[in-house]
Amino acid sequence: MNRSEQLFRRAQEIIPGGVNSPVRAFRAVGGHPLFIQRGEGSHIWDVDGREYIDYVGSWGPLIFGHRPPEVLRALQQILEIGTSFGAPTEREVDLAEFIAKFFPSVEKVRLVNSGTEATMSAIRLARGFTGRERIVKFDGCYHGHGDSLLVKAGSGVATLGLPDSPGVPQNLAGLTTVLPFNNPSALKSEFDRHGKDIACVIVEPVAGNMGCVPPRAGYLELLRDLTQRSGSILIFDEVMTGFRVARGGAQQVYGIEPDLTTLGKIIGGGLPVGAYGGRAEIMDYVAPAGPVYQAGTLSGNPLAVAAGLATLRRLDEAAPYNNLETLGSRLERGLIEAASKAGVPVRVNRVGSMFTVFFTNQDVMDFESAKTSDTQRFNRFFHMMLDEGAYLPPSQFEAAFISAAHTNSDIERTIEAASKALRKV
Ligand SMILES: *Cc1c(COP(=O)(O)O)cnc(C)c1O
Repeated sequence: MNRSEQLFRRAQEIIPGGVNSPVRAFRAVGGHPLFIQRGEGSHIWDVDGREYIDYVGSWGPLIFGHRPPEVLRALQQILEIGTSFGAPTEREVDLAEFIAKFFPSVEKVRLVNSGTEATMSAIRLARGFTGRERIVKFDGCYHGHGDSLLVKAGSGVATLGLPDSPGVPQNLAGLTTVLPFNNPSALKSEFDRHGKDIACVIVEPVAGNMGCVPPRAGYLELLRDLTQRSGSILIFDEVMTGFRVARGGAQQVYGIEPDLTTLGKIIGGGLPVGAYGGRAEIMDYVAPAGPVYQAGTLSGNPLAVAAGLATLRRLDEAAPYNNLETLGSRLERGLIEAASKAGVPVRVNRVGSMFTVFFTNQDVMDFESAKTSDTQRFNRFFHMMLDEGAYLPPSQFEAAFISAAHTNSDIERTIEAASKALRKV
């Protein structure tokens, strides 16, 4: 038994399922999770000393890879002055201003500790502001584990095949309408029937939690148009896509201004930060400016904010997006060629540095089509890639990430590994 296995045994005795977040457990792909010892740039090492090219990047936050020097320096500075005060600090204002600078739709923003907190708070705000209760989400989209949002969710929920979670009150789940993603007619008929009751629509503008699924042309425009006309709030959940697909997120790429935006992952630079923001008129409904309550003992935590700020500053200066696109398109082409040579049907969906290899011969545009994937084949592919030294997300229904620390040689090695693996899957 190797050290990862030993640790997993110990963990299972004391932590439910041995992990602190379900997708880490490798349930879908089988086997036991790797316990990670350390990371540097685009690589990680497990506790048995094996090295991998990392395509998980802590599930999205690490756009500059592990231990970027700017972030380490920023954290060092905070250690000299104190890690938490529960009182306002200057860097919180800096981080809020940085977010607003890159997201023109964000006039005001509140910092929280996770993506889940951001989406839960944004939903409460949308309900409080509109005085309506119904919300709309999309099948296979994941917005964290808040009660209202844990209905037909993506990510670990999709991976484990749990349609709904026990413990979510029926009455609350009943207020959530779930529609298929990328389906204009389903959207239109929902708004025809219930438009005036809908507080908000929450969407991943590029879905990442059923695997990477981009919006079809005109879909986000339709969403903007219908919500505007019915007085519903449009929430772009950019926890994954914010600062990932572009500095200004998917709303910059597709040129749509939502009313509210939720952020997380990259804005914490590897530490826990989330944020929700948008039109000042709406955000001024949040306490203490307004009546909708939301608070946090560690919100705006100095360490987390410093890591986020250092990351956003570097994104401002270094603008890695062209490089990420180059690496991404090279990897995409390599994977498609390798699969075609091996005679394995795949669809590679990619937006910039987020991508998924679906083992299907159908275009993947929603959760139904994502589920046509041969997940057994994905699982074999996943384990063969691990053996070859590439660490992919341990589920067909998760996006993989390239960081600015990845090199051409990482990409070429990954394509070689995939060529070998695909011949055997
Ligand atoms: C990761 C994610 C969340 C949840 O964020 P946590 O920090 O895990 O709570 C919400 N929405 C989207 C789109 C995500 O990718």
